[in-house]
Amino acid sequence: MHWLQIDVTNLDGLSDGSREIRSSGPVEGFRSGLGWIDDGDSVHIDLVLRSVSDSVEAVGEVRGKLHLSCSRCLVEYQEGFRLDVDEKFYFDPTAAELKEGYEVRDQVVNLEPMLRDVIVLSIPMRPVHTDDCKGLCPECGADLNASDCKHAKQQIDIRWAPLQSLMASQSGGDDEEVEK
Ligand SMILES: [Zn+2]
Ligand SMILES: [Zn+2]
Repeated sequence: MHWLQIDVTNLDGLSDGSREIRSSGPVEGFRSGLGWIDDGDSVHIDLVLRSVSDSVEAVGEVRGKLHLSCSRCLVEYQEGFRLDVDEKFYFDPTAAELKEGYEVRDQVVNLEPMLRDVIVLSIPMRPVHTDDCKGLCPECGADLNASDCKHAKQQIDIRWAPLQSLMASQSGGDDEEVEK
């Protein structure tokens, strides 16, 4: 069986109906928007599967490394993640659907779809490789973190123009450049 498929047949027979799962392996082909996991990178799970009346609970955490694309300058960077997991796998497929949980199929809990969901939800809509990333020049596409093209200066001038003209009018309009 795949490393993320756990047989829960004997869960009820355990002293407190629970089992610890500490394991790691790849999550193949994981790609979502601006984030992805290398097929060669391992994802670690540290979970307790507990048998409750109508379902199996999976509680714990998942850790790994995401590759992200900066939404401003498009540079690729890596970021570790550590995410809480608290999900349920229902024996009844209808209950799984109604309660937005997962299904136990043939006494097997497949952690993979759950893991993918948890990781996808953690990916920022607009990842930035550093908080002060300057992004790309909308005119020439230059990486403004590395170079300073004139276009960027013009952009800033346009943005400050209203303030400059306001300041100019308050000081008697002696700034001819802004009035034009
Ligand atoms: Zn960036
Ligand atoms: Zn430019």
